[in-house]
Amino acid sequence: MRAAITAILFLVLPVFCFSQQPNAPLKVNDYKKLTSYEELTIFVHELDAKSDLLKVEKIGNSVKWRDLYALTFSTTEFGKDTSKIKVLVFAQQHGNEQSGKEGALLLAKELLNPENRYLFDRIDFALVPQMNPDGSEANKRRNANDMDLNRNHLILTEPETFALHAFFDKFRFEVTMDVHEYSPYGGEWEKFGYRKNSDITVGTTTNLNVSKKLRRLSDKRYLPFILKYLDDRKFTSFEYCPGGPPDSGYIRHSTFDINDGRQSLGIQNTLSFIQEGMNGKDDSIENLQHRAEGQMTGMRGLLEFAYTNKDEIKRLVSAEREKLISGRSGEKISVQSEHVSNGQNLQIPLLSYYSGNDSVVTVHDYRPVVKSLYNVKKPVGYLIPVDRPPLMQWANSQSLKCVPFKNTGEYKIEQYMINHVDSIDFEGDIVANPGVSVREFPITITDHDYYFLSTAQLKGNMIVLALEPKSMLGLATYTKYAGLLKSWESFPVLRVVEK
Ligand SMILES: [Zn+2]
Repeated sequence: MRAAITAILFLVLPVFCFSQQPNAPLKVNDYKKLTSYEELTIFVHELDAKSDLLKVEKIGNSVKWRDLYALTFSTTEFGKDTSKIKVLVFAQQHGNEQSGKEGALLLAKELLNPENRYLFDRIDFALVPQMNPDGSEANKRRNANDMDLNRNHLILTEPETFALHAFFDKFRFEVTMDVHEYSPYGGEWEKFGYRKNSDITVGTTTNLNVSKKLRRLSDKRYLPFILKYLDDRKFTSFEYCPGGPPDSGYIRHSTFDINDGRQSLGIQNTLSFIQEGMNGKDDSIENLQHRAEGQMTGMRGLLEFAYTNKDEIKRLVSAEREKLISGRSGEKISVQSEHVSNGQNLQIPLLSYYSGNDSVVTVHDYRPVVKSLYNVKKPVGYLIPVDRPPLMQWANSQSLKCVPFKNTGEYKIEQYMINHVDSIDFEGDIVANPGVSVREFPITITDHDYYFLSTAQLKGNMIVLALEPKSMLGLATYTKYAGLLKSWESFPVLRVVEK
């Protein structure tokens, strides 16, 4: 008998050893310890060494010079087969939101199982498990420069966000998802008597300048799909609903700002999402297995959706991006917006602090609609003065096409005068709201005084939102660029418009 067992082991063991991928550190540590940067680094390189499907690419560095990794999954050379759909998922911009990273590492291992191989017949997939390793090691939200990375995607001053956008620009992913956690345990909610309790919430793009067709596909097709996908796998889920509690603050869907990981890519007409898992209560370990598996399942669901709807998504993204790239000067761009009601209440699932049971609460002050308050006409482009190096640095960090300006007289050049600087409420924050008037630029422009930034590029709508003085999402709302807005002075960036 013993001889027979030995013989079987000899037959089975070699196959078993060679095909076995290493387990994610979280599993190795029995779900009781967060994965360190060092463990992550070893794990992803082990996966790379043992798989023909996965490659580790270093896409940049953190402030403290830790590496940022993208794991690329492709049956061919990544990004080369144009018939495939390119999907990017990135996690843990906020270092204290650990389940995104842990879920991503579980997913990396999961995707190497032979039964998941079919996905890569149609998908080239890139996974960045850890955007903020410095924050993660300290279990803190911000990076080592004390910056909130998820408010940095417009100005791109941080190496982590810069690396992500350079990577995105290289492949122009068609589908993206930014993975976070939400914390439902605030004191105001406790006073209210209920708190949010969904394992996973999912948000779509809400900025009015993102393609309407892409927003519709996200809201009408992806959301129902992913909520059911999660529910079928025993994870509770709901649409991403910040704000509240309902007795003291309104509930809306995501911000319409374009400085986060979802909307900064959405504004380039990418099918783009945010996924948030529920944080642990007292520490990041609580319920970690369920939280990480929930995040992994949500990411896996995104791949399933991209696989099933590949041709439709590719066609739509390509057509909507072509509109940006070909440039449509004169179309309306909304630069100030607000969240308003659609006359309906929201039925939101919450956990009762009194009974400890899940309940459904009716929210009366529910504002799901984003309404434009102020539009501008999209110009042909903008002129950036050469004596404003920070603006040129910004354009370079965003890899914008920018050339020295030669005035052929073909276009009209407009200048804004800042008459006064008021303020406007933006999702509870106060931002500058200048009163402006427009005049034709009176002085002849000498060649090489300005750089010309065309709006006929993939980031064309982003450029308008960044450079219009009345934009509540614009560069002038950031401390670094606050000097752009001065009462009784002209705005230094000029508009180039059709005559
Ligand atoms: Zn977050």
